[in-house]
Amino acid sequence: MENKAADIKEKHKAVFFDRDGTLNEEVDYLYRIEDFRWLPEAVEAIQYCHAQGYLVIVVTNQSGVARGYYQEEDIRKLHEWMQQALQAKGTYIDKFYYCPHHPEAKVAKYRQVCDCRKPKPGMVLAGCRDFNVDISRSFIVGDKKRDIDSGENAGVRGFYYHGGSLLETVKQAIAAMEHQDK
Ligand SMILES: [Mg+2]
Ligand SMILES: [Zn+2]
Repeated sequence: MENKAADIKEKHKAVFFDRDGTLNEEVDYLYRIEDFRWLPEAVEAIQYCHAQGYLVIVVTNQSGVARGYYQEEDIRKLHEWMQQALQAKGTYIDKFYYCPHHPEAKVAKYRQVCDCRKPKPGMVLAGCRDFNVDISRSFIVGDKKRDIDSGENAGVRGFYYHGGSLLETVKQAIAAMEHQDK
């Protein structure tokens, strides 16, 4: 803590979470706070990750922006609300990354084949860069193959969330990760 330079050089382990269908109920093109519902023990899963020394990073495809259904500002507001809800429970998300693009976007500004739309690894790689993440000790949790693939394309292991308690999924994933270290 006293030595800031050493602190910055230190590698961190991270859990990358998909958002919709993993942290919260899947709702088509979710952006309204009133439509947001945490999935079972999602908040506890985030608390557990921090307690085990992991950063918590969200990586979410938000093509609703490209499709003109909502604005980037709506995403930021929803994420701000999520942070406040988490802070009320003594926890937080270290950073949100979202991809607003789509190759066939209605909104020209977002019409592109980007590097961030999962299964591309751009958001995971950005998180690794921004937080000096140790790829070999980090993993992604998601409900879709494209989540797993985006992690694996960045070099981190992927674990499926199949519903039920997210905390249980995360506990098993962390046990598997810590086991591989030995
Ligand atoms: Mg999902
Ligand atoms: Zn993108």
